[in-house]
Amino acid sequence: MTTTEKTPTTPTSPAALEVHGVHKWYGTHHVLDGIDLSVRPGEVTVVLGPSGSGKSTLLRVINHLEKPELGHVSVGGEPIGVRRHGARLRELSERAILRQRGRIGFVFQNFNLFPHLTVLDNVAAAPVATGKLTRDEARELARELLTRVGLGDRTGAYPRQLSGGQQQRVAIARALALRPGIILFDEPTSALDPELVGEVLAVIKDLATSGTTLVIVTHEIGFAREVADRVVFIDGGRIVEQGPPAQVLDHPRHERTRDFLAKVL
Ligand code: ADP
Ligand code: MG
Repeated sequence: MTTTEKTPTTPTSPAALEVHGVHKWYGTHHVLDGIDLSVRPGEVTVVLGPSGSGKSTLLRVINHLEKPELGHVSVGGEPIGVRRHGARLRELSERAILRQRGRIGFVFQNFNLFPHLTVLDNVAAAPVATGKLTRDEARELARELLTRVGLGDRTGAYPRQLSGGQQQRVAIARALALRPGIILFDEPTSALDPELVGEVLAVIKDLATSGTTLVIVTHEIGFAREVADRVVFIDGGRIVEQGPPAQVLDHPRHERTRDFLAKVL
């Protein structure tokens, strides 16, 4: 089913993700300083930036794990989080937030699997808990997804019996199980031994080429060059520059981007 063709999007189709004027403070620390970002369906966005620049916070705001003090986020055309409503800020209900979160998959640096559940049940749990599928349906889907990430033969294993690369592939299958409109990755390979990085990037690349909308925070520049439709460079809570990989990675316009690339390349 893998194809390199991306579904063309008409101008009328809503953005998969829109981030409008998002500001986030921790105390007096202005961690996100006016972020605007629009991601088209099927687009693969790679977010780069130095440690502490706000990348994880941005993903957490998108998934409503953190609330921005200003601005709003919308997924698939529906706003979530805090939005400006005239002079007032209006909050959406917990229920709306949960519904929206169900449309977003999140893959963390440290896998975050349930240690007491088998691989199969790690993947099957969310669709059952959210009432989307029966237990049998969810397990069948979990088998399919685990096969897709190359772990069809490890469904009965527990996370501790797997390598880091295998655990991260389970985490990706788990994110897919809710059939999200978009998947966010926060440094998915940075906790892995170097020899295990490739197998995880291969799975993400498979998703990228099959038209899944992805936002990936990573320091893997070669991977970004290969899979990204767009590279976004963040520093100090601001988007410093963005564009196609060939532009941002090979001809960066800003000094800060050049400095960063010189350090990671
Ligand atoms: P990145 O992922 O780009 O390394 P983060 O988004 O994790 O950056 O963090 C951005 C800044 O916000 C850092 O200075 C970090 O220390 C600070 N920060 C992150 N989370 C919190 C928190 N929960 N409370 C206070 N400060 C935080
Ligand atoms: Mg981070």
